[in-house]
Amino acid sequence: MKSFFVLTDLEGPAGVDSFTQTRPGDGFPERVEAAKKLLAREVNACIEGIRSVYGDARIDVWDGHGPGGLLAEDLAYGNYLREGQPYKRLEGYDALLFVGQHAMAGTFNAPLNHTYSSKTVAYYKLNGVFIGEFGARALIAGTQGVPTVFLSGDDKAALEAKLFVPEIETAVVKWGRGVEAAVHLDGDEACRVVREGAARAVRRMADIPPFTAISAPYVLEIRYLNPPQKKQQGPGVEWVDDRTVRLQRDDIRDLPV
Ligand SMILES: [Zn+2]
Repeated sequence: MKSFFVLTDLEGPAGVDSFTQTRPGDGFPERVEAAKKLLAREVNACIEGIRSVYGDARIDVWDGHGPGGLLAEDLAYGNYLREGQPYKRLEGYDALLFVGQHAMAGTFNAPLNHTYSSKTVAYYKLNGVFIGEFGARALIAGTQGVPTVFLSGDDKAALEAKLFVPEIETAVVKWGRGVEAAVHLDGDEACRVVREGAARAVRRMADIPPFTAISAPYVLEIRYLNPPQKKQQGPGVEWVDDRTVRLQRDDIRDLPV
């Protein structure tokens, strides 16, 4: 039986292009709840696509949006995961798929672009390479022998995925026109491209190699938008200036990624 890990985020579905739809603290909780429904539809479309190829697949779905982006009861199939960082233990899975992903911080015209924290992080560089959530997590999977075979989200997130994994299948559900602006597919059309893309991805997964091109030891440079109040210290931690830190670790999973 095949098994798949689906990593989800709330910034990437069609219909989402404002931080008021992804940050519950911004004063519009009903917008966030509506966005969760848009994400759930695309996640279910991804699951349908996988199951159109592997009907009995085990599918684990992780809600990767910090304050929560997906409700367990909205999942049509599969196992809902929320707590911790289950994407750091992927041994035994056949492939990793991203649904609802956004581009890395600083990407031009990329809707809701950020790297982990939209309020504090200017950029991440790993061993000299600008990297975002996609690249870091594809690398975590790759170092465990698991290929990242699919991404759905905006057009810039899809381009970013292909920088790291040229063979990946992508489904573009919106085209970025600014940090909080995009041209969107309608919901049914978005679900169709996600379903078809996910099916293509799992059919082709043997041809998509695990991403391993950035190798240990890892030096992660984090540039903050403002000098952090509390500066992490310790072995393998070097502050370059008041808002840039370099963290050195042998295992990618020991970095904040
Ligand atoms: Zn998010």
